[in-house]
Amino acid sequence: MREGPRDECGVFGLYAPGHEVARLSYFALYALQHRGQESAGIAAADRGGHIITRRELGLVNQVFSENDLRTLAGELAIGHVRYSTTGSNAWENSQPVQRSEGTNGSRREVALAHNGNLINALELHEELLANGVSFSSTSDSEIIAAMIATNPAEHVEDAIAEVLPRLRGAFSIVAMTKDRIVAFRDPHGLRPLAIGVLDSAEDDGEVGPRYCVASESCAFDIIGARYLRDVEPGEVVTLGEHGLDSRMVAPDQRRAFCVFEYIYFARPDSRMNDQVLQVARGRMGEILWREAPVEADMVIAVPDSGNAAARGLARAAGLPQDDGFVKNRYVARTFIQPGQELRKHGLRLKFNPLPEVIEGKRLVVVDDSIVRGNTTRQIVQMLRDSGAAEVHMRISAPPIKHPCHYGIDMSTREEMIAHNRTTEQVAAELGCDSLHYLSLGGVYEAVRGSRETHCDACFTGHYPLAGTDEAGGKYALEPGEEAEEVAVLPLTRA
Ligand code: SF4
Repeated sequence: MREGPRDECGVFGLYAPGHEVARLSYFALYALQHRGQESAGIAAADRGGHIITRRELGLVNQVFSENDLRTLAGELAIGHVRYSTTGSNAWENSQPVQRSEGTNGSRREVALAHNGNLINALELHEELLANGVSFSSTSDSEIIAAMIATNPAEHVEDAIAEVLPRLRGAFSIVAMTKDRIVAFRDPHGLRPLAIGVLDSAEDDGEVGPRYCVASESCAFDIIGARYLRDVEPGEVVTLGEHGLDSRMVAPDQRRAFCVFEYIYFARPDSRMNDQVLQVARGRMGEILWREAPVEADMVIAVPDSGNAAARGLARAAGLPQDDGFVKNRYVARTFIQPGQELRKHGLRLKFNPLPEVIEGKRLVVVDDSIVRGNTTRQIVQMLRDSGAAEVHMRISAPPIKHPCHYGIDMSTREEMIAHNRTTEQVAAELGCDSLHYLSLGGVYEAVRGSRETHCDACFTGHYPLAGTDEAGGKYALEPGEEAEEVAVLPLTRA
């Protein structure tokens, strides 16, 4: 139902002997569900035993039963929730990916959960195939798992230290062997990855604190863990019997954290780069109002993505805020198509407007982003049909004009409503009385950051990794398409 950028993936890992690691992973994935709704998986192991993986298509609460969690008993576990393009082989691409390579004498078993997207996946894939490695999925994540599993280094951290510099693109990865968790992040830090400590285990003098890693700190809150710090870009972190070990493998590269994480992807209660996102999004709303005030009676949000910015805007404007829509929170869970008769009601399956609130009002309507514009167009029409006197759209992101090659599924450039259109032309297409996008400067002011350390390529077209454009040309799926549009692979995103 949502036509915006599609969420990416969420990863989690935990080393905690004496704790129900699978159950804790389940709840952590439950908190990360917004990052991927197509499949979920957990891999768990006893130190010295085998890795057992359970993964399936569906939401976290659909995939795992009590029995599954009992079967996944162990001392360490990793988990994954995934968004991908759908396809007949979707199950094969669910994660954690598990690979076992080598002879019985020196066999390396590794499971891996990945958030991101490699831009040199095809090159690596071909190289591995030429070396006799076979694959059971079309996911770039299995390429990484295979590279680690086949690396001859004795310790998995050394294998990862050799593999990491060969990977290009976005990757926040949680890998596990039978006795440790190893988390690592690409040298640009495109996607988030945080370290937490289980509070309940902190005072355990005999074995020390138990650590966990997750895409977002909201996963720590739900399991009684505390945010410690982020995994640094280019850092390899081991969680094991000695607690937390770290080594920097690829230091001092241009940082490029995804600025869209603050705007939309991450949960508002997560903390990233010392910013609580609910607060940063509130500031985006305040700046939106400063940049484009308008005579109006009321502020409403497009729920839930516009809520925080709408509150900030209403605060700055001194205007009342109300619910213009009631949102059905369970729409994503229905697989029954609405059919022709209901289709004409379009978005009402998801948003039902409240005419009693809307009628006769000059509205400021706040949302986080516009990609194709179809949803926004329908929202504007619903508000007009419900009697709104004026509809002024305020968007807490700049216009999206370029595709993402770093793990976010967006439309092709031609489908983006802001592509080759001025803001006035977009406003006319949407049928609203006025439209303002938050400036890029406004975004960085709100998140207390700068362009030098972030990626904003979907707004500006400036891709922070050299060769991103060429990668598109080299790996284009269909001949004749513009390089950036198809950027990456005959492989799917994690
Ligand atoms: S292109 Fe946009 S969505 Fe993709 S990593 Fe950069 S800022 Fe994030």
